[in-house]
Amino acid sequence: MEPIHTRALLLKRVDTGESDRVVTLVTEELGKVSAIARGARRSRKRFGAALALFVLAEAELRTRTTSSLHVLTGYHALEIHAGISRDIAAITHASYATELVDALCPKGHPDPEIFDLLLEMYGLLAVEPATSERLRVFELRLLTIAGLAPQLSVCVGCGRDVFNEPERLGMDMGRGGVVCGDCGRPDQAIAPETYGALFELAQLGLGDAGKLSLSDRVRRELRNTMAATIEYTVGRQLKSVQFIHKLSR
Ligand SMILES: [Zn+2]
Repeated sequence: MEPIHTRALLLKRVDTGESDRVVTLVTEELGKVSAIARGARRSRKRFGAALALFVLAEAELRTRTTSSLHVLTGYHALEIHAGISRDIAAITHASYATELVDALCPKGHPDPEIFDLLLEMYGLLAVEPATSERLRVFELRLLTIAGLAPQLSVCVGCGRDVFNEPERLGMDMGRGGVVCGDCGRPDQAIAPETYGALFELAQLGLGDAGKLSLSDRVRRELRNTMAATIEYTVGRQLKSVQFIHKLSR
């Protein structure tokens, strides 16, 4: 069978055998795939330094009828986003974005919007400071594309429009969004400013995220709200979340 050439981003890699690697890629043509890169640890000729995180590459893949594990026969860097490696916050945000795409992206369903979102995130982190506002926009955009965005404009308990009554709102992850004062519990409450910021961030693209500058308190509440939303959606806490909390940016 003819090999498939597609733009790809590395999500993770695991060493296997004596010199092989099993890589998980998100690709433009095939969506998320796993592939074996034979001899990747011994010879850098075929894969070069391209088989690294945050690098946009052209992948050459051979699919196999007997296995869902493809064979990676070539991998060439197109854009390495070198700026990310110069800033610990950028590395952490890029790692988290990568891990989140891996967690939310099912295998074998091509979704160019998810591919483009992650690529845009790397591009911005390579040249602009890493901000928590942009990270929140990334989370919200990714959840929206995956059909998992929290409901923000009407109460998930009673269906009431809550946009004009932000004073007594809460977030109920189990029910998938915002709850009004009658439907929520006190421990679910979020401040009106946090709700307003969440609503605004959900309308923005990654490149516009810098337009919004939030107070430390709102930032912290948003981070906790989104962390709880994602932990509920994925079913576990992501590894890179702890590093982000330490940086608190
Ligand atoms: Zn309600």
